[in-house]
Amino acid sequence: MTMQFDIIIVGGGHGGAHTAVALRQSGFKGSIAILTAEADAPYERPPLSKEYLAGRKPFERLLIRPPEFWADRAVTLRTHERVVAIDAARRQVTTESGVNFGYGDLVWAAGGEARRLSCGGHDLDGVHTVRTRADVDRLHRDMAISERVIIAGGGYIGLETAATLTGLGKQVTVIEASPRLLSRVAGPSISRFVEREHRSNGIDVRLSSVIDRVEGVAGRACRVVLADGESLSADLVIVGIGIDPVVEPLRIVGAATGNGVIVDELGMTMLPNIHAIGDCALQPHPFASGRLIRIESVQNAVEMSGTVARALCGEAPVARSVPWFWSHQNDLRLQTIGFALDHDREVIHGNMADGRFSVAYVRDDHVIAIDCVNDPRSFVEARSLFSAPTENQRLDQRFLISTSETTSTER
Ligand SMILES: Cc1cc2nc3c(=O)[nH]c(=O)nc-3n(C[C@H](O)[C@H](O)[C@H](O)COP(=O)(O)OP(=O)(O)OC[C@H]3O[C@@H](n4cnc5c(N)ncnc54)[C@H](O)[C@@H]3O)c2cc1C
Repeated sequence: MTMQFDIIIVGGGHGGAHTAVALRQSGFKGSIAILTAEADAPYERPPLSKEYLAGRKPFERLLIRPPEFWADRAVTLRTHERVVAIDAARRQVTTESGVNFGYGDLVWAAGGEARRLSCGGHDLDGVHTVRTRADVDRLHRDMAISERVIIAGGGYIGLETAATLTGLGKQVTVIEASPRLLSRVAGPSISRFVEREHRSNGIDVRLSSVIDRVEGVAGRACRVVLADGESLSADLVIVGIGIDPVVEPLRIVGAATGNGVIVDELGMTMLPNIHAIGDCALQPHPFASGRLIRIESVQNAVEMSGTVARALCGEAPVARSVPWFWSHQNDLRLQTIGFALDHDREVIHGNMADGRFSVAYVRDDHVIAIDCVNDPRSFVEARSLFSAPTENQRLDQRFLISTSETTSTER
């Protein structure tokens, strides 16, 4: 038997949930189903490495909408339904449990899966990733019996997790393969500052360091061996080395894919009636000079969901807004705006020594992105200046002149 819906949304994360919300807000009257692989109703992912991991926020406060919202808005929410196949010609998807769902339009919002260690040892007990509520609940159980934690990856997730666990009194080591922290997402000034902060909070930061294998005793991880032969004792290993976008069912039926599924400005894949949004989508972005880019942020998932919902309701598209992101690492409040792609220098505002400053990334004498550290006022100001093209000159005037030091970019 095939269950039929006008719109099927695959994935109940930020993108999927907000698509359903936006469709109803736009007055869409047809039937909507969200099929999600997880056991839970849509919830916010950012607290997983912060307040939820720390035990400061109960799961109920993570829910994107109250439980009754979905039924009240006539949105069918099917948990435990992982879509494994698409029949684009018959407009039908099949889930792992063997159920077929027919659609008029499909919105693929399946996000990404946490990358596993490619070396040996990932399957040992005590080795974790931080992507879903279930991941963190498993981690909570192991945290109770663990003191020494090794975190693979010095990106946002690794550092947020490291900060939270240090705050809980754990002894934390971060292993990062590149020569600096946050190397994919921030410039060297921010990397150096963040490294100093985490070290001063007791985190052992190992840069240019590669994990060769995780070893265990009786099936449980007990040691991480680095490529240079050093062996580090560990009760818990947390792997925060990025995600792989979930696009395989789309690729199999002919969608163009790379590091994600390629969509146009309206979120359309190359397949008829199939859209894709959020962490799994590669889209040309005006703030990246039209380059295809895959963004992992709540703002991006929510904005793309609005674009697709408007398109499905026949409404005119609205222009993309400047991308922004935040990360909380204990007392560190990082906020970033714009894309620091191919910048040629950094200009620092404020005083790094007192821990409140911003870094403007400059290309051809124009500010293209700004990182703010414990400096929400600059973030708010930058966001409004970025948002109005007529204010570009003011943005440059405000952020091109350094108040402390100017650095040329080292990579
Ligand atoms: C620990 C953590 C902290 C973060 N912190 C921040 C932050 O501070 N700020 C910020 O902006 N962003 C943060 N992010 C990133 C942000 O959460 C993501 O960018 C956002 O969740 C992307 O939304 P999405 O809908 O594209 O994907 P997701 O939220 O990942 O949702 C995808 C959903 O689809 C489901 N799914 C996958 N495959 C299938 C399938 N085949 N069939 C059915 N369902 C499927 C998944 O189980 C999941 O529920 C964080 C992410 C994590 C993991």
